[in-house]
Amino acid sequence: MSVRLPFRLPPRRARALSRAPFSRTRRAERAASTVTFRDVAANEAAMDRLRALADYLAHPQKYAALGARLPRGVLLYGPPGTGKTLMARALAGEAGVPFFSLSGSDFVEMYVGVGAARVRELFAKAAKAGRCVIFIDEIDAIGKRRDDSSGSEERDRTLNALLSEMSGFAENSGVIVLAATNRADTLDPALTRPGRFDAKIEIGLPDRRERLDILRLHCRKKPLAEDVDLCRLAADTVRFSGASLESLVNDAAIRAARRGGHVIEEDDLHAAFVAAVAGEDRPVSAAREELAVVALHEAGHAVACRALLPGHRIERLSVLPTTSGAAGYNLTIPAERALPDLNGLTAQIQVLLAGRAAEQLLYSETNLTAGASGDLAQAAELASTMALDLGMVASPAVSLRALSRCTGGAQEGAALVRRLLDDCYQAVRLLLSQRVAQLEALAARLVEAESLTGDEVAAFFEEMPV
Ligand code: ADP
Ligand code: MG
Ligand code: ZN
Repeated sequence: MSVRLPFRLPPRRARALSRAPFSRTRRAERAASTVTFRDVAANEAAMDRLRALADYLAHPQKYAALGARLPRGVLLYGPPGTGKTLMARALAGEAGVPFFSLSGSDFVEMYVGVGAARVRELFAKAAKAGRCVIFIDEIDAIGKRRDDSSGSEERDRTLNALLSEMSGFAENSGVIVLAATNRADTLDPALTRPGRFDAKIEIGLPDRRERLDILRLHCRKKPLAEDVDLCRLAADTVRFSGASLESLVNDAAIRAARRGGHVIEEDDLHAAFVAAVAGEDRPVSAAREELAVVALHEAGHAVACRALLPGHRIERLSVLPTTSGAAGYNLTIPAERALPDLNGLTAQIQVLLAGRAAEQLLYSETNLTAGASGDLAQAAELASTMALDLGMVASPAVSLRALSRCTGGAQEGAALVRRLLDDCYQAVRLLLSQRVAQLEALAARLVEAESLTGDEVAAFFEEMPV
């Protein structure tokens, strides 16, 4: 049974190993080739994009021949422990190219100029290697927004060195720069400009099915008792990241070894699970209840969207938190309608308010969820644009004036915005009350799966018309 123990090699042995019979770059190569895409589970959408990059790294001339331009830098963002570092390594391993990495935290509180020098050194080494993956972990440590008051000159220098090294790379040189962060929202916009980290890949928390895949992967080389039910464990581990699942399985293996067992029993996994959640402020049952409220909220958006904006496509519906706040639901607005009309804007406001309306309809006493407050802010913004700037309000007295631009308009405008929001809220609540069965069925499916793709949502509506 393979058990990972938190141990260190004695120094002499570690040094001997690092003097292995290959050169520095060879060492990077060797290290990278040990991890491939087979070691990563879940995140299908992200893995598809990484597979495309791996193909490019393996055969850059194929792309150069067609004049294809690939992203120079790819930013992986998402909660800690979701496998960003793992994926970066796996990309290099899969393509069979060397892997060079630095972590942003290595630069914190460093002497002047050292960070910038390290960046240049890293890129120089990489340039010699030819095709390779350069990985900058925890890039937020050097790439924070510069207007942030804690900004330091030293960090700026490091960041500037990184940006200039990146723009110095020739296109199609077979170098891919990957960076990872747990917080994409705090990054300096200079980093995400074209020619820099112009591709972004979100790495989310795994949903129930993905957790099962990750558990299975980490149990590959571990003997499990026959009665072990990984499906149930996957269902219980709501909001666990890949890293917490890996350490849960490892903890169970350690427990099994300690009691002298030959296989991992259900009890070992259960004990490891209890130990993992014991430190959490929220017991699992509460997390489950929360899931039901969030699912209803997201289902509200989806049902209203289906009814009011039939031309819009829902990309994804999920009850898992993301790093950008709640946002369990993702809607694409078709671009060809550049100038939305009154009905279109009203419908958008109603769809935004539908999450909260669904919560109130079926759980009258819930507090405002974090997601709902974001929705309200967005709805209010849309409503005030309509009322104040576009003069698009169905009130004959004011509809032709842009209120924000005339004196005394502000107060009149605020009242209008409030009325507009109120009307939209009542209207969407009524709409949902006529679709309670659909709403509840979608919410139930969402609690079960935790996230649904756009196709799954579309299929649901086909199966279950009003
Ligand atoms: P991050 O960089 O996003 O914080 P890591 O890549 O450091 O996460 O993940 C730590 C460990 O957790 C990995 O080495 C792996 O064992 C496990 N892990 C995380 N995500 C996954 C995944 N999607 N598939 C398989 N293992 C994972
Ligand atoms: Mg990491
Ligand atoms: Zn919402």
